[in-house]
Amino acid sequence: MKNPDLLNKLEKEKDLTDQELAQVIEGLTGEETEVLFARARAVREREYGKDVYVRGLIEFSNICQNDCYYCGIRKSNTNLERYRLTPEEILDCAREGYQLGFRTFVLQSGEDAWFTRERMSDIIRKIKKEFPDCAITLSLGERSREEYEEWFAAGADRYLLRHETADDDHYRYLHPENMSLANRKNCLYTLREIGYQVGAGFMVGSPVQTVDNLVSDIRFLQELKPHMIGIGPFLTHPDTPFADKESGSLSRTLVLLGILRLLFPGVLLPATTALGTIAPNGREQGLLAGANVVMPNLSPVGVRKKYELYANKICTGEESAQCKNCLNLRVESVGYQLAVSRGDSRVV
Ligand code: SAH
Repeated sequence: MKNPDLLNKLEKEKDLTDQELAQVIEGLTGEETEVLFARARAVREREYGKDVYVRGLIEFSNICQNDCYYCGIRKSNTNLERYRLTPEEILDCAREGYQLGFRTFVLQSGEDAWFTRERMSDIIRKIKKEFPDCAITLSLGERSREEYEEWFAAGADRYLLRHETADDDHYRYLHPENMSLANRKNCLYTLREIGYQVGAGFMVGSPVQTVDNLVSDIRFLQELKPHMIGIGPFLTHPDTPFADKESGSLSRTLVLLGILRLLFPGVLLPATTALGTIAPNGREQGLLAGANVVMPNLSPVGVRKKYELYANKICTGEESAQCKNCLNLRVESVGYQLAVSRGDSRVV
């Protein structure tokens, strides 16, 4: 053991210095990493038992006005067939999901202006009316306070908006000039103020990311105090400016999941699709490192391949029921169980 004190401090949620945090991110031995994961599991089981919460992900439009350099559905990618589900198709996805036992629907899309304040409110109200026992999570990017307020009033419960990186220079490197970290952070604080359960997060191993950047990400999360934290490895997409950049690593993502579980005991932490894409049992390993949420795809099979944020995305050829069964087996294979419930965060 090189760093026993650091792991103890981390577990007691004591303040680590930036240098100590960096040391945990990049300096643990193999044996210490196993200790980190075991402690993360203990905390996760204390907070949430053996339940894994399941979210039905409805990717309802891949049309996007933004041009993020890493993302496969960026505006400038002309090598992609665009689609937009109708409100009725979105509702059908929710109906199918409800039958399968999903009690949270995540509506995610590019920044698609067709989905105006009114149209989105209408969709939210319809889903809530038909399924009052379900939670609705939105993930539509940066919108105005008025829109966020109206959607909350219409019944949306949660909002996912990864901050992507909490370092200004790094943010600049990953995004075009017209986007700003300040605005993204502002959106997150606004969402929290309105009353949403909020999810922030970042990609692990995005181009030029340093360990210091990751420390900044953790510091920002400590300030924001989100209910959910979404992280996954950066994965290269061939039709983006980052086509020749290397993907992030499985092992670093797992270490960060373990750290996040210890620093944010009650947070909801998904084992993401990107994690399942970088390694066949990536999501299972994520669950064993402290994650407690999975987000199977509920989008119609015909559009799944087109919501290609990165190359080789998994689960694009299966029906939703198959996806759910497969995940069920995966979750049980590591000693956990899928829960049929909204699965609200313990963070208040
Ligand atoms: N328009 C919404 C949804 C974006 S897609 C929004 O702005 O929040 C959801 C997430 O996918 C992004 O926040 C980003 O972190 C992740 N993502 C995008 N491209 C990726 C890539 N190449 N590799 C890994 N994750 C990626």
